[in-house]
Amino acid sequence: MSLKAKTALVTGSTSGIGLAIARALAAEGCNVVINGFGDPAAIEAERAKIEADFGVKAAYDGADMTDGAAIAAMVANAEKTFGSLDILVNNAGIQHVAPIDEFPVDKWNQILAINLSSAFHAMRAAIPGMKARKWGRIISTASAHSLVASPFKSAYVSAKHGIAGLTKTAALEVATHGVTVNCISPGYVWTPLVEKQIPDTMAARGMTKEQVISDVLLEAQPTKEFVTVDQVASLAVYLCSDAASQITGANLSIDGGWTAE
Ligand code: NAD
Repeated sequence: MSLKAKTALVTGSTSGIGLAIARALAAEGCNVVINGFGDPAAIEAERAKIEADFGVKAAYDGADMTDGAAIAAMVANAEKTFGSLDILVNNAGIQHVAPIDEFPVDKWNQILAINLSSAFHAMRAAIPGMKARKWGRIISTASAHSLVASPFKSAYVSAKHGIAGLTKTAALEVATHGVTVNCISPGYVWTPLVEKQIPDTMAARGMTKEQVISDVLLEAQPTKEFVTVDQVASLAVYLCSDAASQITGANLSIDGGWTAE
């Protein structure tokens, strides 16, 4: 089955991994709804570029992933605008790094809301339509931190472990309805956010760019190479294909060997 004329909603898709997934699904013929924060003109340019590059329809919904009612409304709007919502990608996420005894309570609540509860709200709203149409794909961007921990990332690690559990539960509930539910767990992904940290770290530690990448950023990643956003997007597209119809409840690592250690 082709993905042509299916509709995909990708949360947190104004940049990084989410934007790459939205563009990759559009390249397969999906109409897409993008979501996330940022400069309105830059978001409109990305939306228009998806339509121009791939000849599909692209809409933008600015729903805040901390707001369950706004998430439900976004799913309803996608169904109304395009006639169905067939693919849901829960991707929005933020990070905050601090020891537990100093972790700001508002940051804990925000990370749990954006990185975990938003996926519950979106699934809750999207599953009835997918079951009625007997086809659906739900994919969440988890992380290597859904499988292993790092210090000072309590909220992020808790939320990502939660995504892995939510994925398994949802997969069992919809298994006989033609709907698969999986999560993808990347290691360090090369994004502008990561790239921008390099010059400061070079200066602070007196290291070359190569040393910063290998010994600081990629210390935990055995290949010593970043995952690319396009590699994550390719896996998401594969999970939407018929070839992947028996993959459900899975947590698929794409982490250069990080969680093998
Ligand atoms: P990013 O910062 O480039 O993208 C995050 C997206 O989420 C943006 O579009 C942002 O606007 C959106 N967002 C943030 N708060 C929001 C809110 N309240 N409501 C709506 N949208 C909101 O980051 P990224 O690296 O592309 O991360 C995407 C996902 O991948 C996250 O879930 C992240 O945890 C996960 N991930 C990233 C890496 C990595 O190394 N970059 C590794 C593993 C997992």
